[in-house]
Amino acid sequence: MFIKVPKGTQDILPEDTPKWYYIKNIIREILTKYGYQEIRTPSFEYTELFVRGIGESTDIVTKEMFTFPDRKGRSLTLRPEGTAPVVRAYLENKMDRSSQVVKLFYIGPMFRCEKPQAGRFRQFNQFGIEVIGTKSPVVDVEVIIAALEIYKKLGLKNLEILINSVGCKRCRAIYVQKLKEFIKDKKDFLCSECVNRYEKNPLRILDCKKDNCQKIIKTAPIITDYLCQECKQHFKEVKSYLNDLKIKYYVEPRLVRGLDYYTKTSFEIVSGELGAQNAIGGGGRYDDLVEELGGKPTPAVGFAAGIERMIIVMNQQKIGWPKNKGLDIFVAKVSERNKNIAFKLLQKIRNAGLSADMDYSAKSLKSQMRIAHKIGAKYTMIIGEEEISKNMVTLRNMKTKEQKEVEVDNLINELEKGSLG
Ligand code: AMP
Repeated sequence: MFIKVPKGTQDILPEDTPKWYYIKNIIREILTKYGYQEIRTPSFEYTELFVRGIGESTDIVTKEMFTFPDRKGRSLTLRPEGTAPVVRAYLENKMDRSSQVVKLFYIGPMFRCEKPQAGRFRQFNQFGIEVIGTKSPVVDVEVIIAALEIYKKLGLKNLEILINSVGCKRCRAIYVQKLKEFIKDKKDFLCSECVNRYEKNPLRILDCKKDNCQKIIKTAPIITDYLCQECKQHFKEVKSYLNDLKIKYYVEPRLVRGLDYYTKTSFEIVSGELGAQNAIGGGGRYDDLVEELGGKPTPAVGFAAGIERMIIVMNQQKIGWPKNKGLDIFVAKVSERNKNIAFKLLQKIRNAGLSADMDYSAKSLKSQMRIAHKIGAKYTMIIGEEEISKNMVTLRNMKTKEQKEVEVDNLINELEKGSLG
């Protein structure tokens, strides 16, 4: 028995890698246009960063992290998300000394030990945006627009924006009290996890997908009724900017998202094409996180999106992308005696900037032609005994099957001219 990929992970095969390049290029192009700069943080961090950053009683921290000790017994965790690492890097690299707002983006793998299902993996890729150093509601909207522009450029349709405000420490505390009072005599109907959440982090109950809990949540008080003046005003401005830009959204007062660091705006972008895991991306403000991780009080807002889910929607909506370019030239030799010349010419072609390859085993010319065909080479260059004695090679256009003898010294010129069409 051969060994398989670990549960919840997948290989990205050569036929699909162009799709990934294409998507990542669009992400980079658009975010650069919006003034974001790319940051790359390690794939693992000290566990404490996520416990403090994401929240001790979140699902991610309690049951989804891949945690392991290093050789000295320090606890490390494969990053389950990108915001806490970016804030760590922001503080560690003294970006907080910048007088300007810091705008960063990242693209990379994240790891969560979740139950794998359609659209939910244990290793998945996210792109994310973080704007650190401003409390302006305009930026909340900019983050949403930048994400929407990426989706639009990729051709994704029928996406919906769900938006909410989860308030600040002060007004949320009042709401949580109200929520607890409401749930108190219904506790017996909650799932066992939510009974636990009731004590440790009642807001998380709003995020439970179980039917019984959903039923209770439906009639629970909503947080937007308890926002303080500042949070109310902030939410009003976010909605008003969205209205000005004619961006359609739905206020979803029970949207709390799976991470504890959110304050004020929290939002999700969903697609009907994704089934149960319908979120293609989500984000919000995290005005307390920088301070929580040891910095000065610094407001911030961000967004993260799953690239695999974007690809699922693209596939379902039958959206194409540029295919692999294919090889320019396959070098085939009539006899093994010509393999040295073939290898030299192969390198010459590559040095001229064209893509080229050859067969390194002693295959017959027929087999070599079959390979050239299979890999989609535009031309095959055939090196025959007789031609090479005249310093010539045969170029065959694989599409038109037209053949032409060309001088070796003139080879690159001929190819560049596209003399065979
Ligand atoms: P989050 O970091 O939980 O806010 O998630 C942001 C986005 O990442 C989600 O909207 C999904 O598109 C994607 N995502 C989160 N978890 C997974 C997962 N286990 N598998 C695939 N994509 C995921």
